[in-house]
Amino acid sequence: MKIGKYELHSIETGRFALDGGAMFGIVPKELWGKLHPSDGQNRIEMALRSLLIMDDKRKILVDTGIGTKLSKKNQKIYKIDQTKHNLEASLEKYGLETKDITDVILTHLHLDHVGGATYLEGKKHKLTFPNAAHYVQKTHHEWAIKPSERDKGSFIREDFKTIEGEGKLRLLDGYAMILPNIDVIIYDGHTIGQQLIKISDGINTLVYCGDVIPFTSHINLPYIASYDISPITSIEDKEKLLTRACNGDWVLFFEHDPVTEAVKVEKIKKEYTIKETISL
Ligand SMILES: [Zn+2]
Repeated sequence: MKIGKYELHSIETGRFALDGGAMFGIVPKELWGKLHPSDGQNRIEMALRSLLIMDDKRKILVDTGIGTKLSKKNQKIYKIDQTKHNLEASLEKYGLETKDITDVILTHLHLDHVGGATYLEGKKHKLTFPNAAHYVQKTHHEWAIKPSERDKGSFIREDFKTIEGEGKLRLLDGYAMILPNIDVIIYDGHTIGQQLIKISDGINTLVYCGDVIPFTSHINLPYIASYDISPITSIEDKEKLLTRACNGDWVLFFEHDPVTEAVKVEKIKKEYTIKETISL
């Protein structure tokens, strides 16, 4: 897909699995189970899909997947599978290596979004994208350093400490246009200061939905993950985003949907629904 001068590509970095109940909050399994088959441990398959935005000068990556640093025990818990897809192989399809990435925009610092930004060499954490500026919201960075008891399991300090230590962290204070035609929209329901990335040339627009709408099934407003720290705000966040997406004919790109990369939406009666499925 092309928007303005940018070429956009889906970068699959692997698969993992989370508890289906946790992904859909108060929605009964009788309903979500029909959309997302679960394994014997109630886990459902999730994509780790980054977005590559490139022109002749900049190679921008949105989110980095879960990476390769988790312990054997955690790899088993999260059912990590990087045999079919991994970051390096996906970048290679477009003639790129990790050192070619100029900018990394992180929606937020949960381990499945920032984990791929560093890797282990022996016991030392190294930057996967040594030449890239890494963008995070300031409010989110502060939260991630001192998370609540409820969400501290979603952050691994070492994941982003290295970015800071190497002088590659760029903290954004609210709305920002990172590059021409690329700006960020802030949402606070899932965590404090999550930023979604919007690429628009005034005619075509794509939004990287991060954890505001992780799967297409979350287009249904009450489908809110239990991971969200403020579920009511999450519903309001989603409604704001879906209204703008309907009005502007935006493409919504999904980080975690195991099947669908992107869609356009419409509102029929009072419900938001998929108008068109899109593959980048
Ligand atoms: Zn998250």
